[in-house]
Order: sequence, then structure tokens, then C-alpha cells
Amino acid sequence: MNGLIAGKVVVITGASSGIGETTAKHLAASGALLFLGARRKHRLDALVDEIRNAGGKAHALVTDVSRRADVERLVHGAREAYGRVDVIINNAGIMPLSPFERLKVDDWDRMIDINVKGVLYGIAAVLPIMKEQKSGHIINVSSVAGHKVRPGNAIYAATKHAVRVISEGLRMEVKPYGIRTTIISPGAIATELVDSVTEPDLQERARAFYALAVPADVIARAIAYAISEPPEVDVNEILLRPTAQEF
Ligand code: NDP
Repeated sequence: MNGLIAGKVVVITGASSGIGETTAKHLAASGALLFLGARRKHRLDALVDEIRNAGGKAHALVTDVSRRADVERLVHGAREAYGRVDVIINNAGIMPLSPFERLKVDDWDRMIDINVKGVLYGIAAVLPIMKEQKSGHIINVSSVAGHKVRPGNAIYAATKHAVRVISEGLRMEVKPYGIRTTIISPGAIATELVDSVTEPDLQERARAFYALAVPADVIARAIAYAISEPPEVDVNEILLRPTAQEF
């Protein structure tokens, strides 16, 4: 299985914690060449050291995915370092939940900028490169919230629905270039995501719900599976919940 991961150049956004960090370690251990982005430099530096000390290959660049120029720099940095870009994992995301009536409009803006525009900027950065290569794999992290909406999470769910729609439209358009697209839709995963809930009552509710969360390596393995399938197989979506999760 790892034969199809070894040597691949993989860019990951939101690599400084949670799913991104765990996936970076998992893929590096399978021989992938990593190029990692997020805003917290100290976390990225520690991760690069850890991967290199374990014999893997990784670079990192401070990246805010809400800035198109940052995402371009990240992807072009990967190509300069390794000569090509095989996979991008558009993973960076935040979840500041709140009901509409609280008018947390700044949070709505941030979610749209990071969860939606960040993914679009990732696609825009890799597409010319992957078209030229006539190969590539664009993996976008959506959510169970990309399938379902509940009171209090409408904007987050809207951004995650958008990720799925964007990915499906992209999937159909990139056929001529041999590019694969995968949507990863996790249920509750134990990461720092709940810290991004700014409303105290909703954070408390989310923490209680996340008691059933499973570790991030579950998602790292799902991503590794999608990457490791042969080029003629396009794993379009993986929807995955903890067994105990009803919604
Ligand atoms: P974490 O909070 O642990 O990780 C989020 C990552 O995104 C961090 O590395 C953070 O790094 C990065 N990030 C946030 N804002 C930006 C930005 N503007 N630019 C670049 N990077 C940014 O949570 P998860 O690992 O859980 O989240 C990863 C993805 O998984 C998200 O898209 C989330 O919506 C999705 N998801 C998670 C689920 C869960 O239950 N955990 C369930 C379903 C989906 P930094 O702050 O250093 O920039």
C-alpha cells in the first residue's frame, strides 16, 4: 500500500495540529515528501524536526490560507523543493459555532475566508501545475457538517457543504488531466478544533459532544488509503464517524 505514497510530494494546509499534523507524520513515515503550511511557526518547526528526526522529509512555510499569495507561496515552495506537486490536502479550517441571532458576523467571515476561500486558493495554486504534469490529487477536508445542518452550526455547515460542491464540480472538470479529487468528511475527531468555538456555551456543548471523538490517525489512515490507490482509481469521498456518533 505504501508503495504508492513513497516519493509523492504532498502539501498540507493546517498542518500545525490535529488532522493535518497527524496526517503529515503518517504520510512521512510512508515515504511521502511533505511541504507543510499553517500560521503557528513554532508548531510547524517542531513538526518538521520530529519528521526529520524519524528519517522523513519535510519543509514548512508559515501560511494563512485566507491570503491567496500565501497559498501560492506554499505550493510553489513545494515545487521548488521537490520538483513537482502530487497531492494537496486542503485541510485548514475553523469552527466558531453560534446561532444566527448572536450576529457573530466576524466569525461568519472568518469561516468563509478560511474554510471556503482557503480551499479555493489551494485549488487555484495547484491546478496549473497538475495540468502541466497531467497528474495530481486534490484532497479537500469537508465534514459530516457538509452533509447535515443543525441549529447553531449553519455557517460552518454551509462552508463544509461548499467544500463538497466545489470538489464534485472540480472532479468532473479535471478528467482530461488525470487529476483525482477526494472529499474527506470526518465525524467527531479529537483535535484542537473545539478550541475555535468562541461562544462559551457552545464550546461547552461541543466539548460534551466530543467525548465520543476518535483520534486523528483514523483520518490520516483514510487519507493514506485514498492516496495509495492506483492512478486509475479515484476515491471521491470518505464519510467517517465514530461508531457512537448518531448525528
Ligand atoms: P485543529 O484545530 O486541530 O486544526 C486546524 C488547523 O487549521 C490548524 O493547523 C490551524 O493552524 C489551521 N488553520 C486555521 N486557520 C488557518 C489559516 N487561516 N491559515 C492556515 N491554517 C489555518 O482541527 P482539526 O484538525 O480537527 O481540523 C482540520 C480540518 O478538519 C478542518 O477543516 C475541520 O473543519 C475539519 N473537520 C474536523 C472535525 C473534527 O471533529 N475535528 C470533523 C470534521 C471536519 P494555525 O492555527 O497554526 O494556523
